[in-house]
Amino acid sequence: MQSVIESKVQENVKVLREHHIPLTTTRLVLLRFLVTNRGHYSAEDIYQILKEEYPSLSIATVYNNMSLFAKLGIVQELRIERDKVIYDTYPEPHDHFLCLKCGRIYDIETATRSLPKELDGHVVHSAHTYYFGICKDCRES
Ligand SMILES: [Zn+2]
Ligand SMILES: [Zn+2]
Repeated sequence: MQSVIESKVQENVKVLREHHIPLTTTRLVLLRFLVTNRGHYSAEDIYQILKEEYPSLSIATVYNNMSLFAKLGIVQELRIERDKVIYDTYPEPHDHFLCLKCGRIYDIETATRSLPKELDGHVVHSAHTYYFGICKDCRES
């Protein structure tokens, strides 16, 4: 029987196939990482975590593939921090809170938003809210 993780990986492999993107070993390693590690990571973070187990991995490959996965909707690209792209491995729509003290990013679950179909004549596809402040852990310390 296929594990839940493996079937999630296969879902993403299917997305690649639909776009005629070859499945390389690196892509498979990254897809496995994404479905087993829920969180917010920069390409650099992912590289640091995986390089010990996969010494042939290069930072450039991680950058390129993560940006590809974001375009395909496999990960969400967050621009919550200045000059830094963060990839969110949790695919469901949700908002984010950035603590200005410790720099941690928290998921904020939002009730399904009813988006306007159109705003000032623009067609709306999605919406995303970034909250900034002091997180609950930093408040207490
Ligand atoms: Zn904090
Ligand atoms: Zn998130």
